[in-house]
Amino acid sequence: MTATDSGTALWPISVTPSDHPVDSAERDEVLANPGFGQRFTDNMVRATWTLDEGWHDARLEAYGPLSLDPATNFMHYGQAIFEGLKAYRHADDSIWTFRPLQNAERFANSARRLAMAELPPELFLGSIEALVRQDRAWVPSGQERSLYLRPFMISTEVGLGVRPANRYEYLLIASPAGAYFPRGLTPVSVWVSEDYVRAAPGGTGEAKCAGNYAASLVAQAEAASHGCDQVVWLDAVERRWIEEMGGMNLYFVYGSGDSARLVTPSLTGSLLPGITRSSLLTVASDLGIPAEEGRISVEEWRDGCASGEITEVFACGTAAVITPVGEVKTRGAGAWSVSNGGTGPITQQLRSALLDIQTGVAPDRHNWLHRLV
Ligand SMILES: *Cc1c(COP(=O)(O)O)cnc(C)c1O
Repeated sequence: MTATDSGTALWPISVTPSDHPVDSAERDEVLANPGFGQRFTDNMVRATWTLDEGWHDARLEAYGPLSLDPATNFMHYGQAIFEGLKAYRHADDSIWTFRPLQNAERFANSARRLAMAELPPELFLGSIEALVRQDRAWVPSGQERSLYLRPFMISTEVGLGVRPANRYEYLLIASPAGAYFPRGLTPVSVWVSEDYVRAAPGGTGEAKCAGNYAASLVAQAEAASHGCDQVVWLDAVERRWIEEMGGMNLYFVYGSGDSARLVTPSLTGSLLPGITRSSLLTVASDLGIPAEEGRISVEEWRDGCASGEITEVFACGTAAVITPVGEVKTRGAGAWSVSNGGTGPITQQLRSALLDIQTGVAPDRHNWLHRLV
């Protein structure tokens, strides 16, 4: 097969698609029941950065294993960052993604924090356009279905010297996705982590880096051992202020009906600035629900649920959109339930409102959608 230019004005990407794509019957079987992050499309995009040449050799090629020297830098010192966004098939078969330049900007911020080469936004967006155009048949249709896009970057200099690498590899892979949490809109139970922290002031909490996830797994295992689905992180200094839930941001609903208002923890530098979180601040105000950033302590969460002042709590992120929190367990402050362990009306309303924009059912008032196909 010969390489051709994809025609994108964004960044030249040579296109040499797989010569052994999955046959359509097998693909349809995967799309009928996609799960999350299990199966990948026929192709991937990659590009290389070197000190001498900068970004070069951007290419779409068959999805497949990488061959790496055991002394490849990222395997030892963890220069590894990633992003997550989705492509949605609309009713007219056009395919769109949601606020991709926000992801491009955050990817560049993550790179800067880990002293890695920054990927130009034209290449970030160009890679997504090239891959989704090539693998468009892998984009499922339906309200809870999408093609999950995973851009990532690793340092690939060979050698054990500890310093920023002189070579990086950017890759983009894609995986058809159904509901992230298999139980759908069923509320999750959370364990408030009082012993382990995710991120500290001056650390990498704002960067979407692999190491943050590695550091979180022991707390996730602790949560599971207490019968909980997810971890809630507190600030590292006082171990008192709510930050996030696992890999998602949190929202608290105060009051109900016409007097409902939302509070999400402020971006203090140790929280990941979620694009879903930021979009919901806008969606809520479009719906006439006041939404602000603030500070919520564990005690305020517990006492607010007891008094009825806090009526709903939900987590938000690209993968699961919005997930209600139904039960909270802590070591030091007891256990309690939220919304009687159910899914509250504001949580449902916001989830539908955001999904409707992403899937083209509701008007895109803020120009958040970017057409890919
Ligand atoms: C990716 C991520 C989020 C959610 O970000 P979105 O842009 O909304 O997907 C929240 N917290 C952490 C720790 C994350 O890694």
